[in-house]
Amino acid sequence: MSKRLNRAKCKLCGTIIVSRHRHDLVSCKCGEIFVDGGNDYWRCGAKNFKNFLRFENRKWTSIFVPEVCEKRSLFKRIISWIESFTQRNEV
Ligand SMILES: [Zn+2]
Repeated sequence: MSKRLNRAKCKLCGTIIVSRHRHDLVSCKCGEIFVDGGNDYWRCGAKNFKNFLRFENRKWTSIFVPEVCEKRSLFKRIISWIESFTQRNEV
């Protein structure tokens, strides 16, 4: 049984990164993408997921990460909340 690796490749700098255990946060050379959590939980992130590649079916492919999208929308909500707060203060 082959173990899947929590690894990714950055399209910008071409670095292949692997997270081998739970507290192993690895980012690529240019800081565009990162993986974390080893095989316990496949945490990953990117400034732009267009530059984030997963090794699937023997080739590097772009992925869609639902959890990350959720986190992003939460982040947007926080930003809009902060914006509304600062706007209120300016008035
Ligand atoms: Zn990079």
